[in-house]
Amino acid sequence: MTHRRVWVAGVLAVALAAGGCTGADDGGFRPGAADAGDPYVPGAGNGGYDVGHYALDVRYDPADDRLTGTATLTVTATRALSAFQLDLAGLTVDRVAVDGAPARHRRDGAELIVTPAHGLPAGKRFTVEVAYGGVPRPLPDPVLGDGGFHHTPDGAIALGQPQSASTWFPVNDHPSDKATYDVAVTVPDGLAALANGVPKGRTTAGGWTTWRWSERSPMASYLTTLVIGDYRVTTGTHGGKPLVTAVAATLPADGPAAASVARTGEVVDFLAARFGPYPFDAYGGVAVADDRIRYALETQTRPVYGPGFFRSGRPNTEVVAHELAHQWFGDSVSVARWSDIWLNEGFATYAEWLWAEHDGGRTVARTVADRYAATDWSKPSVDPGRAGMFGDAVYQRGALAVHALRRAVGDETFYRVLRGWLAERRDGNVTTADFIGYAERAAGRPLRALLDAWLVGGTPPGLP
Ligand SMILES: [Zn+2]
Repeated sequence: MTHRRVWVAGVLAVALAAGGCTGADDGGFRPGAADAGDPYVPGAGNGGYDVGHYALDVRYDPADDRLTGTATLTVTATRALSAFQLDLAGLTVDRVAVDGAPARHRRDGAELIVTPAHGLPAGKRFTVEVAYGGVPRPLPDPVLGDGGFHHTPDGAIALGQPQSASTWFPVNDHPSDKATYDVAVTVPDGLAALANGVPKGRTTAGGWTTWRWSERSPMASYLTTLVIGDYRVTTGTHGGKPLVTAVAATLPADGPAAASVARTGEVVDFLAARFGPYPFDAYGGVAVADDRIRYALETQTRPVYGPGFFRSGRPNTEVVAHELAHQWFGDSVSVARWSDIWLNEGFATYAEWLWAEHDGGRTVARTVADRYAATDWSKPSVDPGRAGMFGDAVYQRGALAVHALRRAVGDETFYRVLRGWLAERRDGNVTTADFIGYAERAAGRPLRALLDAWLVGGTPPGLP
């Protein structure tokens, strides 16, 4: 994510959410946990199973803001389950089936609690089909900003970090459970409906058009997006893969947003030369016009850019470089818990600096000197607190740590470490300790003390 302005976030007490496990019943079948146990997102995610695939079929009518959908999840039980939970905020559930058989279901706030007719043994693969509908709403979050399904004058934008997906489909809403997706979105003829991944064609019937998308690489739920409305959609290819970009029709066709998104392929190539092969089957970007989207987000294969980045009237490819760098750092290799978000933002911010230097802007050395001088060393990059997830300690200090690593090991080793890390952990979930361990092995030297000083130490390390 990129924010246009520095956030001065208030202090927020974070309570550990209680797990959902109670006593065992027959045969060791117990209810799955009510959340993923991540204190940055209390209540989000669930336990006891792993989703492999989501097949979503949704219809949205901007005239009455109603969404109706069917979600079919392919799931594996990670222990014996008598019941399990999905995250679903608002909306009404009409019916739930597990392996085709009707299942009991009830709601508890933003949780959908499903009790199948029979217990699910550990290791069992099963399908969950949920039919649902209603008027979707974003999740109010006074600290991090509202995420989720926003109605717009011409359609909708579903977007947000750390949470958004549960406002438009039932989901295990935590990045630790990545899955593949097929999404079919039906909207009135004439509107575009963009989502993640490879375009799989459109069909029209009775005044409605269905747009189909497929994401075959595992994707964290916060990286899903849905953008519906009046857009200029451009479909091409880059490096033999589909490249789909879209610019809101209310933005000028030759304006800075369109010009910036048009450089997507060029920026990708710059990053791939440093980080290794692009990890997904499609490229793209969407420039929206809604002022409530005050950020850009690295939604997988198709980042979404808010209008503020282009308000100066000049193109802004630094934000494009940031969101595209996330395709490697954050999307392909994802955090296992939000306290390690610097692994996403530190590298994406550093990529922004590299691109700026390459594109005739400020040198990395100059940016490093400025950011170093402005750093508050009392604020750690790792475990910055929920309110600090999008703060300078994560982005700027995190990027300074990346630069310190580069200077310590030299360019050749630095890029070899990054490429090796991205290849080894592709499609996976990682922690800060994983990264430091990998870097030490790949570089063949101790790096923990150096990275600790740059990431979490309370005093300024010597400028490299
Ligand atoms: Zn970011």
